[in-house]
Amino acid sequence: MVKETTYYDILGVSTNCTQDELKKAYRKLALKYHPDKNPNEGERFKQISRAYEVLSNPEKKRIYDQGGEQALKEGGVENSGFSSPMDLFDMIFGGGFGGPRGHRRERRGKDVIHQLSVSLEELYKGAVRKLALQKNVICDKCEGRGGKKGAVQVCVTCKGSGMIFKVHQLAPGMIQQIQTVCTECRGSRQIINPKDRCKACQGEKTVKVRKILEVHVDKGMRDGQKIVFAGEGDQEPDLEPGDIVIVLDEKEHAIFKRSGNDLVLRMDIELVEALCGFQKLIRTLDDRDLVLTTIPGEVTKHADVKCVLSEGMPQYKNPFEKGRLIIQFLVSFPRDISPETAALLENCLPPRPQVVIPECAEECMLVDMDPEKESQRQSHRNAYDEDDDGGPGVNKVQCATN
Ligand SMILES: [Zn+2]
Ligand SMILES: [Zn+2]
Repeated sequence: MVKETTYYDILGVSTNCTQDELKKAYRKLALKYHPDKNPNEGERFKQISRAYEVLSNPEKKRIYDQGGEQALKEGGVENSGFSSPMDLFDMIFGGGFGGPRGHRRERRGKDVIHQLSVSLEELYKGAVRKLALQKNVICDKCEGRGGKKGAVQVCVTCKGSGMIFKVHQLAPGMIQQIQTVCTECRGSRQIINPKDRCKACQGEKTVKVRKILEVHVDKGMRDGQKIVFAGEGDQEPDLEPGDIVIVLDEKEHAIFKRSGNDLVLRMDIELVEALCGFQKLIRTLDDRDLVLTTIPGEVTKHADVKCVLSEGMPQYKNPFEKGRLIIQFLVSFPRDISPETAALLENCLPPRPQVVIPECAEECMLVDMDPEKESQRQSHRNAYDEDDDGGPGVNKVQCATN
């Protein structure tokens, strides 16, 4: 039982989700609400980062689960161990996105990230997906100058530096110099006479174009894997364009669950099939039919796990090697059977053990019970007992020992 679910709710995951599910949820939301895509959702982006950072860290998660947000503050985690939302984003999506902010990156434009939803079939068979997107390219009418040749003048206001100094007098004899971006050229260091501006780009030097990217999804690629189109990001004059990065998002499959290179399948079988054998068909992700046949006399128990070798996911870059197809069998028992059938069945089954019942034995009733609900009720009861020594729990123990 966790104290608060706020962080789980922010990420839209259940309190018992796996680290993989957590990461996937973060990735999806962080891309959706990244300030580049959604400038008005800065607060949301921060919350998502915060929630993920806490829940992905076993120590912080433990503190949060036990005492909620308050406990994190009191535990001193609040002021020490939090990274900035952007740093966290860079960490999860790899160094490519703006970070590390070294010298190499300074002359480069931003990377553009897109998430691409792919089915398990596509990851199994490989696929080519077309992705349409908008990007800025250098205007070819003016070759990125923004106007006619010779119309581009060095900004007089800032003398081509792009920055101006403002002088403030704080007190007589005390002045402060502040450097700000030049308001005349907006930091571009150049001025173009309005009538000489390029008509195609309105003096902006770049134009928006629609671009179709062919994304090759290779066999065996995984959820979260990145496909990089180097230098395909937005173009800007005097700047090396960044990359377009496609992040794969594996869709859930109705039948198979992926676990690394293995595929996991839960299969319901009837009691008669469990005891007397069965033949079952499995339709593979590339539309072949596999037949499973039990050996005569073989009994399949409830929750038995078996596997078929080389029918799992292909290995990335080595697609002829495949993982396993793992099958968990779930036996459906009949709800009830008639006494006549029971008698017939009994003749066929291994004999039951003999029970000798002592004279003073007490007859009792079996009542249905749900272990899950029971454990929840139990933890409520424990909380109650801590407050009240004479609570119902104590009485019950006495009864049992009498
Ligand atoms: Zn132009
Ligand atoms: Zn200027």
